[in-house]
Amino acid sequence: MPLALTKLVFLGVSYICITMSKNNELRCSFCGRQKKDTNVLIAGITGHICDSCILQANSIVDEEINQKATKSLETNLTLLKPTEIKESLDQYVIGQDEAKKVFAVAVYNHYKRLLQKTDEDEIEIEKSNVILVGKTGTGKTLLAKTIAKMLNVPFCIADATVLTEAGYVGEDVESILSRLLQAADYDVNAAQQGIVFIDEIDKVARKSDNPSITRDVSGEGVQQALLKLLEGTVVSVPPQGGRKHPEQKMIQIDTKNILFVCGGAFAGIEQIIKRRVKTQSLGFARKDSEAIADKENLLQYINPTDLKAYGLIPELIGRFPVLSFLNPLDAKTLRSILTEPKNALIKQYKKLFKIDNVELEFEEEVFDFIVERAVEFKLGARGLRSICEAILNDAMFDIPADSSVTKLEVTLKYAQEKFGKSKISRLKVA
Ligand code: ADP
Repeated sequence: MPLALTKLVFLGVSYICITMSKNNELRCSFCGRQKKDTNVLIAGITGHICDSCILQANSIVDEEINQKATKSLETNLTLLKPTEIKESLDQYVIGQDEAKKVFAVAVYNHYKRLLQKTDEDEIEIEKSNVILVGKTGTGKTLLAKTIAKMLNVPFCIADATVLTEAGYVGEDVESILSRLLQAADYDVNAAQQGIVFIDEIDKVARKSDNPSITRDVSGEGVQQALLKLLEGTVVSVPPQGGRKHPEQKMIQIDTKNILFVCGGAFAGIEQIIKRRVKTQSLGFARKDSEAIADKENLLQYINPTDLKAYGLIPELIGRFPVLSFLNPLDAKTLRSILTEPKNALIKQYKKLFKIDNVELEFEEEVFDFIVERAVEFKLGARGLRSICEAILNDAMFDIPADSSVTKLEVTLKYAQEKFGKSKISRLKVA
């Protein structure tokens, strides 16, 4: 029966029953059942309600709330097509095309799944949690953050290294959801459709293949605790975060529609991939060179069995049906990262100076100098920022106090001189 009709009948019956209950016999004011025909009859100020009417009313309320949640998701969520998602990502994240494509499809399918009506054919689309493998500073967090912003859903970053099994020193896995709730401004419905990025998932890998006598509370224990969360369950979350304690007020969060994205560097996994590809190529009597076309970037051949060999438990891997990798950043990519993205570092510095009415310009060679230093010191994309700071710090200190300066041109000589004086230039090249 349609919801509106059910409610009409429900209200109609209750009206009739209130009139019927005028004799002295106690009856449910909604369905008219006599007290003896009910399990429980609860008295209100002007009437009574029986247990079965409570259950029915409860299901009407649930249905109404669910419909409202889907409607609010439909209005708030900007559901973009995978190609559109990738195009938007291109504005912020340089390169990483493979990861962008895989991620865009996973996100599109996930939100299509949320917007589908609970329907006739009973085909339930499952969640598509994502795991991203790539060296630190290659854009894993940036990808997830950019997608969440694009879709207008709450987003939070959690660090797997601080998590421990419940009852041990460290944070419970539920603390991740407290953070999401905070990001959603305590709007439970919005939080239930958000994206959680769990960083450093490789750090909760099983410590060794042999089950030892001591419990692995920050490794396998955390993986086990994460399972329920990833699959979809109702979790009691302390709204302010921290440890759960009995007197605390809890908020119930259903994780069934939360998209989990995990990222990790998985240092040393290349060796595992290499070993696997070699044995496979032996098995299929193929030449080694055929199996590994690009020996420099072995991550591109990663598959779930490598994660298992690294120490993730199969149950956890099974809850991440989407696996992708990020390429290491070469000098050309770093150069683009410096100037091209919408939020590029150089654009940010120009804006900072503009607030003080100073025009900031760079000689082209300065960009190459910055990139060369980042590569030399193996600092990756994060290092670009430290190098720029080292070059511009003096100017950022002096210029606000001197209103006569309206333009600063950073020449190669200026950059070399300022960088040479900075602490960062004294870093040893590894
Ligand atoms: P991680 O892979 O460790 O999660 P992040 O996504 O946090 O790395 O990247 C660190 C910073 O480096 C970002 O804030 C961004 O400025 C820059 N960065 C890294 N990779 C890229 C990329 N592919 N495109 C644009 N910026 C990038």
